[in-house]
Amino acid sequence: MTETPRWAIIVHGGAHQTPPEQVAASRAGCLAALSAGRRVLEGGGTAVEAVEAALRVLEDDPTFNAGYGSALTADGTVEMDSAVMDGQTLEVGAVAGLAGVRHPVSVARRLLREKEVLLTGAGARRFAERSGAELCAPEELISPQQRKTFQEHDTVGCVALDLRGHLAAGTSTGGLTGQPAGRVGDSPLIGCGFYAEDGVGAVALTGEGESLARWMTAARILHRLPGRTPDEALRTVLEEMGTRVGGTGGGIALTPDGQAGWWHTSPDMPTAYQRSDMPSPRTYLTKTEERDDVHTPHG
Ligand code: ASP
Repeated sequence: MTETPRWAIIVHGGAHQTPPEQVAASRAGCLAALSAGRRVLEGGGTAVEAVEAALRVLEDDPTFNAGYGSALTADGTVEMDSAVMDGQTLEVGAVAGLAGVRHPVSVARRLLREKEVLLTGAGARRFAERSGAELCAPEELISPQQRKTFQEHDTVGCVALDLRGHLAAGTSTGGLTGQPAGRVGDSPLIGCGFYAEDGVGAVALTGEGESLARWMTAARILHRLPGRTPDEALRTVLEEMGTRVGGTGGGIALTPDGQAGWWHTSPDMPTAYQRSDMPSPRTYLTKTEERDDVHTPHG
């Protein structure tokens, strides 16, 4: 008999084509983020705390396009977007076009308890200062690899279910490589890049932000979750998005009873997940890899 998971967490490292030399680092980064979030959940912390803990690890890792190592705009600057949503209270904290902050997700998390749901640019940075976030010079977030090659790599996200049955979702990104200054994608937009609601589900997305926003993709996935597996809900909505507005992407989702799912229409999407009924986490680069693994007898 399978136990109903008491907690669950899934993270992703962005929908994109992972260069071969970054595969190992992407898996390791996802696993490290997952363990940080899992520790919070096992210790009785909230889903919001777990999402923040996991995303902070990915923001510190230059393999991913969030925090340190963010994609550069056409002007060669870093502008970051991030959001956190609490499925219990439906509170949202989101920031866009934020510069000079080490952990945009922690700024979003602090905004969660305020009336405003989204702050941009200079206002977001002032809020970060006021709320005691870790500040830095904007150029300190540019990794040596970014300086050299303008590498393409992607957004990170996390969804979690805690021991009290509450859900949360979070995203963090430097946006798209070479985007015009001031451009904002789906990641800080409610119902486009993320959503969480207790009793319904939680979702965090990645991919072509304009398409994800125009298709209101996270909201549609949430509506499709009841009665479907998270994989099915993600797959149908992402495929419809491709047909109706174009663009590829990927996402992770959780149901209120702890079923974790993921899907991508992009070439890869590094992912790691674990539920309380699994002895160890699983990490994959593509859905095909997971299917092959699940159908191979272990041990
Ligand atoms: N969705 C993000 C954006 O458009 C980028 C990504 O997920 O790679 O800003």
